[in-house]
Amino acid sequence: MKSFEANIKKVVPYTPGEQPQNKVIKLNTNENPYPPSKEVEKVLHNFDVDVLRLYPDPTIKELVDTIADYHGVDPEQVFAGVGSDEVLALSFLTFFHGKKPILFPKVTYSFYKVWADLYDIPYKCTELDENFVIEKEDFYEDNGGIIIPNPNAPTSLYMELSEIEDILKHNQDVVVIIDEAYIDYAKESALKLLDRYENLLVIRTFSKSRSMAGMRIGYGIGSKVLIKHLNNTKHSFNSYTLNAVSIQCGKASIEDDAYFKEMIARVIETREQVKIELKSLGFTVLDSSTNFLFVKHKEANAKKLFEALKAKDIYVRHWMDEPVSDYLRISIGTNEEMEKLIKFMKEYLN
Ligand code: PMP
Repeated sequence: MKSFEANIKKVVPYTPGEQPQNKVIKLNTNENPYPPSKEVEKVLHNFDVDVLRLYPDPTIKELVDTIADYHGVDPEQVFAGVGSDEVLALSFLTFFHGKKPILFPKVTYSFYKVWADLYDIPYKCTELDENFVIEKEDFYEDNGGIIIPNPNAPTSLYMELSEIEDILKHNQDVVVIIDEAYIDYAKESALKLLDRYENLLVIRTFSKSRSMAGMRIGYGIGSKVLIKHLNNTKHSFNSYTLNAVSIQCGKASIEDDAYFKEMIARVIETREQVKIELKSLGFTVLDSSTNFLFVKHKEANAKKLFEALKAKDIYVRHWMDEPVSDYLRISIGTNEEMEKLIKFMKEYLN
């Protein structure tokens, strides 16, 4: 180590899924296989480049107002950012500032640990049961804040709203964040609980159900007091986060609700079909409420299967970490892509 490295912050970064630049069947980062709304395309087509001379609106008003209107909340309850990753990172920095450990599940979005380490936030991971179910009682102990994705990733499992509310009831003195990246493929959102819990922040993304991972748009909804603090942190870091193009495209996406709902239904239909087919091939498939499946084969080794798929240009996700090393996470693609996946599995398993 060079002497000047002594004062340098060392972190173990998050490892994103591969983004191969050649044409592959890409089922590894839970993107949407369908394009964004035609209204988004129109915005891009008609975009006045002169707008780019100026800084974008630091309050992101156009998009924030549209999101607020869509969810029936006050614009002062909405915070938008560059992907939900940015909203989450700023939330960790803002809300998890105490001395006690924050709590999140042991098997979950691996970025949580990275942010906690980056900001020197103490944390404790709660155990899941043998079926990867999050146990609400594990969140009753004294803590400095809570973050839970619902549905959880990579397990794909949904936690009932009554259980989330139970956790909130036991934790009214800390901020509780529910990361709803995949909620559009599930049942009820925790947004319903906002009126009762001022310490609740719900975070959403345009990357999955809105087919806009490349645009980087995410948002948080919470009480005015939480959003005020989040804005203060943002304006202590970078006031111009979302760019002018993203702001307009995000608005157009929200305004085309019919297309949005149709694409969600399509992905769910494919998911349910693929679930049946994988089960018939000897896979255990967790009961997904997301746009991906978390699967384990009764005989085939997960790492070898992952590599064999990759050799055929079918990308899925595999982690060597326990207790998920026997599993693959497979995003839902088009019907045609999933047929190719199933065809490969049949050949491979024979
Ligand atoms: N939360 C969860 C649970 C996720 O799986 C992801 C996607 N990697 C994100 C947040 C971040 O998504 P984005 O930054 O694209 O909004």
